[in-house]
Amino acid sequence: MFGKRQRIEIKNTEQIALMREAGVVVATTLETLRQAAVPGVTTADLDAIARRVIAEHNATPSFLGYHGFPAVICTSVNSAVVHGIPDDTVLRDGDLLSIDCGAIVQGWHGDAALTVPIGTVSDDVARLSEVTREAMWAGLRQARAGNRLSDIGHAIENVIRGAGSYGVVEEYVGHGIGSQMHMYPSVPNYGRPGEGPTLEVGMALAIEPMATLGSATVRVLDDEWTVATDDDSTAAHWEHTVAITADGPWVLTALEEIRL
Ligand code: MG
Ligand code: MG
Repeated sequence: MFGKRQRIEIKNTEQIALMREAGVVVATTLETLRQAAVPGVTTADLDAIARRVIAEHNATPSFLGYHGFPAVICTSVNSAVVHGIPDDTVLRDGDLLSIDCGAIVQGWHGDAALTVPIGTVSDDVARLSEVTREAMWAGLRQARAGNRLSDIGHAIENVIRGAGSYGVVEEYVGHGIGSQMHMYPSVPNYGRPGEGPTLEVGMALAIEPMATLGSATVRVLDDEWTVATDDDSTAAHWEHTVAITADGPWVLTALEEIRL
């Protein structure tokens, strides 16, 4: 799974600091969207807010125009897992919405996602999101020098499998990040520990588990972007960008200062 031909980009302190600036823009945008995501709002409304907040911070959206993606954020509702396109879909009480956002500051990227309950969601749906979020944090805690890359996915899978009979999406994964949004290596959300590259200070990864209430099998919808569960079960998605520092994992896309 882990090829040896490519190198993982190593960032210096100044470059990590710029990634933190991008991460704060992403965090601020996502927090604004989290508060705005209520019944009656459309996903296009949220996209417009994201566009404004990113512009106000003199940053550039990572997603707009990326391989032709038509919006600033991805909005994935209920059975949509990732890569949903904002449109005139009206959010309704009980929906589960994942919002994914990326921003660039002076050429350096931040990428994060959160899952938001719209109004009041069922206990099963709320728990799915909470388990996926916990799995993300377990993965982030493994992002330290000397660990192996697959320690991250192993920790993520352990949390999700240990919490109940959830689907762990395997076809979409986390990734290296820095001077580009999607870089080597892929960061799977499953697997055995102790495999793949050894993590080093200066690497940065986007860690993003996706879990479902049913099947782990996904398909791409006719819009050629939206990834949805094959069985229409509800999905959750959480993501942070993390830097591997000499002092441990630094969560670059958190609103507050978080070093694990
Ligand atoms: Mg993302
Ligand atoms: Mg990502």
